[in-house]
Amino acid sequence: MRVDLHNHTTLCNHATGTTQEYIEKAISLGVDIFGFSEHAPMHFDEKYRLQLQDKEFYENDVKFLQKKYQKDIKILLGYEVDYLEGDYMLPEVLNSNVDYLIGSVHFLKQNGTQWGFDNPEFIGHYQNTNIDKIWEDYFLAIKNMAKSGKFDIVGHLDLIKVFKFLQKKDIKLLALDTLKEIKKANMIVEINAAGYRKPIAEQYPSKELLELCFELDIPITFSSDAHSIDQVGFKYEEAKALAKEIGYIKCSYFEQREKIETSF
Ligand SMILES: [Zn+2]
Ligand SMILES: [Zn+2]
Repeated sequence: MRVDLHNHTTLCNHATGTTQEYIEKAISLGVDIFGFSEHAPMHFDEKYRLQLQDKEFYENDVKFLQKKYQKDIKILLGYEVDYLEGDYMLPEVLNSNVDYLIGSVHFLKQNGTQWGFDNPEFIGHYQNTNIDKIWEDYFLAIKNMAKSGKFDIVGHLDLIKVFKFLQKKDIKLLALDTLKEIKKANMIVEINAAGYRKPIAEQYPSKELLELCFELDIPITFSSDAHSIDQVGFKYEEAKALAKEIGYIKCSYFEQREKIETSF
């Protein structure tokens, strides 16, 4: 089965193409299970995410397509939720009736403000801070996200490598506690293709981290993280080959927050 759980829509204001076009592209590629996971509404960085007043529209659109294409593809409804400490995450999102929630960290607290570390605009922060400290802060945020127990899938596990400011410490040591927490929380990790399109030029997570996931028996899934039609299914064959090389024979998806395993 070909699974692709992380895809966006124009409702986040930084993607192109209609939801129907995403589905038709996925069907043409032979995707069996395709999930939309729009950037969920939140009281932060509101310009680049779904607006709360459009939440119902988004959910109804996905449900409409679910029925329309039910003979050709299974369509799932999800959200990518920013994990931010403080009163940012909305209960309307965390309690919504969806198939799954992806938990992602795109912001780190630095000197009292939130730093959008994957935004090229704020790239200067990497030069001014101890790089291992940044990586430790990032993995601590992921660990807390797992501990919160609110999410099913870890979004782009090592996004902090995006601009190639790499840690000096051994990554397996640095991330071990976080991965143990992910395992404890019963979460799964996505192999996310967006990294191939960024300076780091490889999937999230790295091969080393994926090996550690395998050792800890953490299940995986596959994600395009598409923000345009041409990104649907991008580099799937590479991601699949890597997963097989490491030893994975199954991937997972969620329906109504229940994990289902399948071969890939
Ligand atoms: Zn996005
Ligand atoms: Zn993301």
